[in-house]
Amino acid sequence: MTTRPLIAITAVHDNGNTFLQKDYSEAVRAAGGVPFVVPHTAEPELLDTLCERVDGLLLSGGEDIDPNLYGEEPLPGIGAVTPERDRMEARLAQRFMAADKPVFAICRGLQLLNAVAGGTLYQDIERQCPDRLQHRQIAPRSHPTHRVDIEPGSLLERVAGSARIRVNSFHHQAVKQTAPGFRVNAVASDGTVEGIESVTHRFVLAVQWHPENMAATDEPARRLFAAFVEACRTR
Ligand code: MN
Repeated sequence: MTTRPLIAITAVHDNGNTFLQKDYSEAVRAAGGVPFVVPHTAEPELLDTLCERVDGLLLSGGEDIDPNLYGEEPLPGIGAVTPERDRMEARLAQRFMAADKPVFAICRGLQLLNAVAGGTLYQDIERQCPDRLQHRQIAPRSHPTHRVDIEPGSLLERVAGSARIRVNSFHHQAVKQTAPGFRVNAVASDGTVEGIESVTHRFVLAVQWHPENMAATDEPARRLFAAFVEACRTR
């Protein structure tokens, strides 16, 4: 019998409620993991204990990253920020990486990871980077709208099984400077960074799109979750 790895998924904490779109837990479940949602807590030690007992971390999507986290003043295009969530997720990301346990980061999760590791973000690509594609699609969430070219030799290339894929897109922030110890693994046709990964950890993978919304219908998206859960299974 193979053990199903336990996977912590971060969530949106808003006005006393915790929210997680069901596709995250469903994609983890379908890939063979046991998902559970991390509650809001102001107790850092609880997060440390969680890291000791859990096999992997999935950083989910959500609000903008506080630009203070990467040493910038807020610009007019910044959206809502959630500093308490930033702090919780920063702690979790640091602990999981220190233990070399798998981290899979999606959209906001990628941005959080890059900021925590010392990189910077465009606060609003629509204002700061003219002539970009539409990265906040109006098409259905599962619909792949723009192309992504995957960097040769990257973990993402091995996982996705393809050098060029189409992805969905629901973001207005993006990586500016890649964090030390990370590399870009995917780029949109307008130059927007669509994925990063650690070059020093076993499995720390981040994508700017939302594979959880595509995993039921899209092979590369399904493969991302399968590889993550498999990495969580093997120590
Ligand atoms: Mn995009």
